[in-house]
Amino acid sequence: MALSKHKVLEDFFGFKSFRPGQEETIDAVLAGRDVLAIMPTGAGKSLCYQIPALMLPGLTIVISPLISLMKDQVEGLKDSGVQAACLNSSISPAEYNETMDSILAGKLKLLYIAPERLQRAELPRFAAGQGIPLVVVDEAHCLSQWGHDFRQSYLDIAGFIKSIKPKPVTAAFTATATPKVREDIITLLRLKETNDDKGAFIITTGFDRPNLYFEVQKPGKNGCASKDKNTALLDCLKTRTDKSGIIYCATRKAVEEVWDLLLRRGFGVTRYHAGLGDAERKKNQDDFLYDRKPIIVATNALGMGIDKSNVSFVIHYNMPKNIESYYQEAGRAGRDGAPADCILLYSGQDVKINEFLIARSDEESNESNPDLVEHNLELLKQMTYYATGNGCLRQRLLSYFDEQSQGYCGNCSNCLTAFDEVDISLEARKIISC
Ligand code: ADP
Ligand code: MG
Repeated sequence: MALSKHKVLEDFFGFKSFRPGQEETIDAVLAGRDVLAIMPTGAGKSLCYQIPALMLPGLTIVISPLISLMKDQVEGLKDSGVQAACLNSSISPAEYNETMDSILAGKLKLLYIAPERLQRAELPRFAAGQGIPLVVVDEAHCLSQWGHDFRQSYLDIAGFIKSIKPKPVTAAFTATATPKVREDIITLLRLKETNDDKGAFIITTGFDRPNLYFEVQKPGKNGCASKDKNTALLDCLKTRTDKSGIIYCATRKAVEEVWDLLLRRGFGVTRYHAGLGDAERKKNQDDFLYDRKPIIVATNALGMGIDKSNVSFVIHYNMPKNIESYYQEAGRAGRDGAPADCILLYSGQDVKINEFLIARSDEESNESNPDLVEHNLELLKQMTYYATGNGCLRQRLLSYFDEQSQGYCGNCSNCLTAFDEVDISLEARKIISC
C-alpha cells in the first residue's frame, strides 16, 4: 500500500500538520524535481527529505557535515521505527560492515554520510540492487566560499551524484539565503533554476521568527545600565533563572572566563569549545541538551547539531563576524515557538577581534584571497551596523536576507526604545497643549 505523506507525518513523526514550505518541498521531491529549500533554522527542513525517503523505493543518501548532527538524527529516526544509519569517522569497522550489509540487503531507507566518506564508501555499487532515488545535501551553504561555513569536501558532492545511475533527485537544504550562496549551490550542484515542471524547485520560506525578541546592549555606553559585559550578562541571567540558554563567546579563552564567572556565582552552567577533548565536549553538550545544566557557554563550535527545542535565550557575549552566523546562532532560541530572547552584548573591541580573525584565517589558508577578505570585512560591517544602528533590529536582519518587513516590529530593543520615546513626546505634547 502506498503511504501518504500525511500518514507518514503522523505515524512516524507524530505530527498532525505540516509547517510552511514542508508540503510543497516534499511534493516537488516526489515529483522527481531537484530542490533547493531555503528555510530558517528550526523550520523543519529534515522532514522535507525524511518523508520522501520513506515514501520512495530504495536508499536515500543524506550528506551532512557534522557527526553529532548525524547521530542525533539517526537515533531519532530509529526511535520512530525508520531504518537509518550513518557513516562517518566515528564509527567502528564492525558498524561499517553492518551498515554496508544492510544496504546490500536492501533494508536501509536513510543513510547519513559525511562528505569526506562519499568516494570511499562505494555506495552506488552497494546500493545497486535497490537504487538511490534521492541524494540530500543538508547544510548546503557549506558548498559556498561566500557562506559562513565553507567545506572543501562539499565540492566532491556533484561528482558523487553524477556517478549514480539513474540520476537521483538532488535536494539541497540551507538556512543561508544570500544571493551569492544561493547561486553557488545552484551552480555547483547543477540544479537548474526554473520553476517549470522539469526544472528545480526553489523555495524560500519567510525568515521571520516572530517569537524571537532581539536586543542589543552596549555595556559602558550611554543608554545601557550595565558598566561592563560581565555585569550586563549577570543582569540578563538574573531575570531568567530556571531558563535554558546559550551564551556564545568569540574565543575559547572568553568561554573559560565566562564559564568560571557563572560557576562562581552558582549557576548550573557547562561549557563547549574545540579545545576540550571529544568525551568532555559530548558530555557537556548532553548535560545541556538533557537539561542537567540549563546554561552552556560556547564558541561557535557548538553549532548546527544543536536541536534543543526549549532554549529560551541566546546571549552573544561577543558580536559574531556576520549576520548569517548571528541569525543562525540566535535562531537556536525558541524552536518550540515559545517567546525567546536573543541578546547581543556589543563593544567596539568585538569589531577588532573579528578583523583579526578574518585576517588570520586568510593567513592560515593555502592561498591568500584578498577578495574573500574584503567580502568578509563587508559582512562584518553589516553586522556592526546591526549592533550600532537605531532602526528596527528585525528589519535589519530580514533585509539582509532580502526580505521586506515593516520598519517597526515592536519586539526588539530598538523598537521598544523608540516606542518609549514616542510615548514621552506624546506626553510632552499633551502637557504643552494644556
Ligand atoms: P531545521 O533543519 O530546519 O533547522 P529541523 O528539521 O531540525 O529544523 O526541525 C526542527 C524541529 O521542528 C524538530 O524538533 C522537529 O521535530 C520539529 N518539526 C519539524 N516539522 C514539524 C511539524 N510539521 N510539526 C511539528 N514539529 C515539527
Ligand atoms: Mg537541519
